[in-house]
Amino acid sequence: MKFFHRHKHTHEHEMLDCEAVMRQLWDYLDEELSPDRMAAIREHLATCARCYPQYEFEQSFLTALDRAQQEHSNPDGLRNRVAAALRAEGMSEI
Ligand SMILES: [Zn+2]
Repeated sequence: MKFFHRHKHTHEHEMLDCEAVMRQLWDYLDEELSPDRMAAIREHLATCARCYPQYEFEQSFLTALDRAQQEHSNPDGLRNRVAAALRAEGMSEI
């Protein structure tokens, strides 16, 4: 618990404020940042009561999205349903 030994939130390698973390949160969740940046954001989230709830929210959103995509990973079924709906409306000759 090294942050107990420090009085200030100073990072030698990188200064991240909350705004910067929020801006990069989606990239962080997609793991599209450099390892250094990933570590800096992880460290910020671990100690920041403001950012962590937002992180949790976005993470659970992504998890739900993944699950939904897996459940509906049947493009033919979807296409057939759309085609049937269009035919029912007399919109298409698909
Ligand atoms: Zn923060």
